[in-house]
Amino acid sequence: QEAHAAEMERTFIAIKPDGVQRGLIAEIISRFERKGFKLVAIKLVVPSKEFAQKHYHDLKERPFFNGLCEFLSSGPVLAMVWEGEGVIKYGRKLIGATDPQKSEPGTIRGDLAVVVGRNIIHGSDGPETAKDEINLWFKPQELVSYTSNAEKWVY
Ligand code: ADP
Ligand code: MG
Repeated sequence: QEAHAAEMERTFIAIKPDGVQRGLIAEIISRFERKGFKLVAIKLVVPSKEFAQKHYHDLKERPFFNGLCEFLSSGPVLAMVWEGEGVIKYGRKLIGATDPQKSEPGTIRGDLAVVVGRNIIHGSDGPETAKDEINLWFKPQELVSYTSNAEKWVY
């Protein structure tokens, strides 16, 4: 059981300032929770612009980079780590396409957002970025290892 938990896949999920301000925290957490994924870290933070630039470093050549980093640092962000089998890829599925105009209904962005610049949520796009983003946002001791009651029924 311990070894199994240690090997479980993890992803970094963040509710951006627009999602927090719109009161969508519970709605979004609920979708990950009901799916069967496990919350292993969570905190509300206002990132600095420099921190936002680190988080989005892959996009620094894009025209929207500055506005994106201004926006991410403009208010509270709910940073989380979710754990579970396939959570990186399926988390992106729950989130939906980057542009909410193209996200399917039933996805978080499809149901709850309208434009790409205010798409309410971030999710790591692969195992490497998941590792990097978890390390950027959280200290190792902020990740909680535990066995949830639901786990033995989900797996
Ligand atoms: P995702 O968040 O789906 O992984 P990207 O990594 O491509 O998408 O982009 C990061 C974020 O940058 C997006 O979630 C969105 O907030 C913003 N973004 C992406 N494309 C655009 C765009 N064309 N105009 C404005 N903002 C954008
Ligand atoms: Mg991305």
